[in-house]
This record gives sequence, C-alpha cells and structure tokens, in this order.
Amino acid sequence: MQVKNPPHLESLLPVFESLDAERIHRKRMLAGALRIFGRFGFSEGVAGHITARDPEFPETFWVNPFGVSFNRMKVSDLIRVDEEGKIVEGKHKNLNQAAFAIHSRIHHARPDVIAAAHAHSIYGKSWSAMGKLLDPITQDSCAFYDDHAIYDDYTGVVLDASEGDRIAQALGDRKAAILKNHGNLTVGLSVEEAVWWFISMERCCQAQILVESMQRSPQLINPEVALSTRNNEVGFPFAGWFSFQPMWQDILAQYPDLTD
Ligand SMILES: [Zn+2]
Repeated sequence: MQVKNPPHLESLLPVFESLDAERIHRKRMLAGALRIFGRFGFSEGVAGHITARDPEFPETFWVNPFGVSFNRMKVSDLIRVDEEGKIVEGKHKNLNQAAFAIHSRIHHARPDVIAAAHAHSIYGKSWSAMGKLLDPITQDSCAFYDDHAIYDDYTGVVLDASEGDRIAQALGDRKAAILKNHGNLTVGLSVEEAVWWFISMERCCQAQILVESMQRSPQLINPEVALSTRNNEVGFPFAGWFSFQPMWQDILAQYPDLTD
C-alpha cells in the first residue's frame, strides 16, 4: 500500500514512550477487539483468534487462550506464544493449534503485520463457500478491491505450519484472504486496523450475499473509482485504525474490566 496516512490526522495515532507502554496498548486493544468479536456474534464454539505481535520480542505474539469466551476476555487472559508454539507468558495453559499454525506463519511471512484476525463468522464463512472474491458493489467493499485473495485449498482444520505457509503465500502483501469453505482472515499494521478490516469484510460479505439474492445483477463501481476509494478514502491503514475507534469507546464503556 503506497498511500500515506493523512498528515492532519496522524496526530491522533498513539505515541509510546517505551516498549512496555506499547505492549500494554496492544494488549488492551486485543482484549477489546475480542470483546467486540463477541458482541458481533463472531464466536463459533472455540473457533476464532486474533493475534498481536509483541513490540519487544517481535518473533512472539499475543493471542486469546483456547476455550475462553470472547465476551469475557481480559488483558490478563492473553497469552504470549513463541515461534515454536510454546506459551512463554500468561496464566492460561491452552493454545489453539489452528491459531498457531495460521498466525505464526503469517507473522513470519509479513514482518509489517502487527495483527491478524480470523473467526468463523456467519457471512464470511457463507461467502467463502462461493470461492469468489468480493466485488466492488459498495463504497465499503472498495477497501478490499484488488487487496484480498482466496486460499482455495481446504483440507480440514489447519494444524500444520506448512498450511499456514500456504495461506500466507495466498495472502501475499494484501490486507485479507478468504479461506474457501472456512472463513475470512485479515491483517493490519495495528490490532485496530486488522480488526476493523475483519468486521468490515464480514459486512461486505453480508451485503454481497443480500445483493446476489436479488434477481438482478448488481451495478459495479468502476475499477478506477474503486481503487481511488480504497487508496484515498476507506482502505488505507489509518482509515482502518480510525474506524475501530468508536467501537473501542463503546466496548470500554460497557466493559471497563476488560483492561484488568
Ligand atoms: Zn478457522
């Protein structure tokens, strides 16, 4: 993505005086993001994970522990996992092997990626069964125009790092991938951004499913306009970060204990 953040808004981005302060921020955003996933109803049993790279030990990442409800997630529940899948920090003992197999290889392949999000949300997984990219049918869907991929090799629950590598390869330098017959995966330069892309993509899948249920073909936004809308208005990293902010304000007001 070549587009820079708008200079007049850059002052809104947090500045950290230490790696510790940055870590605390990332963990707060991660716990809040998981609560937001819970509020959207993105949980499906124990499936779904969001990761955030540690600022001091960037080969490790923070993730939600296996089998803990999104709706109850607190900062103190998060676990830190190393490149071998060992839990090196946190009170919980269980790591979702699929979370490790997918996210560790994405973080490895994409040094720019701070966070990655994946869940079996209903519209994302429904659309994934089509094996098709999203079309530029709305302003919001332009964020994903020519910036998402399809991973079309479903072979069962992802437990193997080599499949994580293939997913990372399909993702390339894009912001999102549709894992066919499975669900969506999004990444970002911040937790805030990755999570906003996931939510927005879910709703874009919902919109396209609705549109395709009508008996007429949708009118597509032309490629030049879709690209410019993505690059300059709705689809660059700051736009993702900024779009997350109202949800963060709401979730923190509703569940102030999430930062415990
Ligand atoms: Zn999954």
